[in-house]
Amino acid sequence: MTQEKNPLRVIVAGGGLGGLALTAGLLKRGIDVTTFERDTDLSRTGGYHIHLDRAATTALRGLLEPESFEAILASSATTRVQGGDVMRDMRGRLLLRKAAPDDDGGVNIDRITLRLILADAAAAALRTGTVVHRHSTEDDGTISVGLEDGTTHTADVLVAADGVHSHIAAALAGRPTNTPTGLLGIGGRTPASALPKKARELFSTDSGLAIGPGGTGLYIGYHDPVNQAAVNSPHLAHPVTTEPTYIWGAVLSESPSTDALRPLEGGELRDATTALLRRAGWTSPMLDVITHTDTDGLATFRFHAGPEVANDVAPWPAGPVTALGDAVHAMPPTAGMGAATAIRDAAALADGLETVRDQQATIPAAVHDFEHGMRIRGAAAVSASLGPVGIIHATNTPAGRIVARVGLPLGAALERLRHRPR
Ligand SMILES: Cc1cc2nc3c(=O)[nH]c(=O)nc-3n(C[C@H](O)[C@H](O)[C@H](O)COP(=O)(O)OP(=O)(O)OC[C@H]3O[C@@H](n4cnc5c(N)ncnc54)[C@H](O)[C@@H]3O)c2cc1C
Repeated sequence: MTQEKNPLRVIVAGGGLGGLALTAGLLKRGIDVTTFERDTDLSRTGGYHIHLDRAATTALRGLLEPESFEAILASSATTRVQGGDVMRDMRGRLLLRKAAPDDDGGVNIDRITLRLILADAAAAALRTGTVVHRHSTEDDGTISVGLEDGTTHTADVLVAADGVHSHIAAALAGRPTNTPTGLLGIGGRTPASALPKKARELFSTDSGLAIGPGGTGLYIGYHDPVNQAAVNSPHLAHPVTTEPTYIWGAVLSESPSTDALRPLEGGELRDATTALLRRAGWTSPMLDVITHTDTDGLATFRFHAGPEVANDVAPWPAGPVTALGDAVHAMPPTAGMGAATAIRDAAALADGLETVRDQQATIPAAVHDFEHGMRIRGAAAVSASLGPVGIIHATNTPAGRIVARVGLPLGAALERLRHRPR
């Protein structure tokens, strides 16, 4: 008589973007999964919009049922019809304009909308308001997961998708998996209709980073998921952004002045950020995006980064406890790749666990293959995200200050000459 094998049981610690994408993908494959998420209100989530490139949208297509995937596209702005990718200085002068991107299948989506659609797709497995407290490997190889409420749960595989401060990934690595980059971000959203005409005309439908002296930068991104919907299915669309809006993020080298911003909220945070940038040499129209911002949801966050070298990512032997997303390869949002990379991790792991379920691979072999791909993908994304971080820090050195004050206007003049009608 053949003995029937127990079905594969997976526990996911963390129902953020990566954990929810994985949960939805496992449910779609019929794999037994339970996801513990600390938050009780999933719409209370940091950040504003998320860029998903073609690789991430392709991953989502494989993870989600068709209707959930269509809801994501219907709630997203396509990058196809957006303006160019620009670099400006602190006065708004153009330093560089990359041509409008070809249609790379990329979209921009409100972070809250994306999380809610993923949570909906993961609903059968998602337990909100639960905190993973400890885990241990039992003699029979199973994983025992203890929650803060005192309950214990058993699985064959535990996936740490618990973000930048992951205790599970740190325990696997024997050290923290990331370090602070020395940059503080302050983010907000400003409806285009709230801006003075001059600023609106300058920003147009472009997106990009502006740099200034003293370790300062300002990302401004155009976001209009209603008029620029990637897919026309209004019945499935529920964007948070319902009118053309600029999503902005001030990026500042950390110092005692930026420490003073961290406890602030709302109008106080807006005013202190404006004052700090003004002291560094920023002027209107760039500052208008901050002075006219919605004060609701204005927030500060420190940027962390994992290793840029693939072999240093997930430095542990493959086994039944693994991790994905920010827990392994945290990165600042300067290249807009953190969520996309976490979602690609989720797709790779869901595929790997399917081979385990189908008894085509053992757990360590499937996790080994998954972690190999994640190391390469994660390190590349961290490296791309750290490029702008280096530029912003460089403007805070004595030489960098001179380059920023003299070189930026010079660069802007050259850019104007380059585009002068002949
Ligand atoms: C404030 C903020 C703003 C951001 N803005 C942007 C942006 O605009 N664009 C962009 O591309 N990227 C942004 N990012 C980065 C991007 O969101 C992340 O790269 C992406 O969310 C990574 O997904 P993840 O699932 O690995 O982690 P997260 O999405 O961070 O999810 C981790 C989850 O684990 C839960 N958790 C933690 N510990 C436990 C525990 N012990 N038990 C149970 N649950 C736990 C947390 O509540 C959280 O929901 C931002 C990040 C932050 C923190």
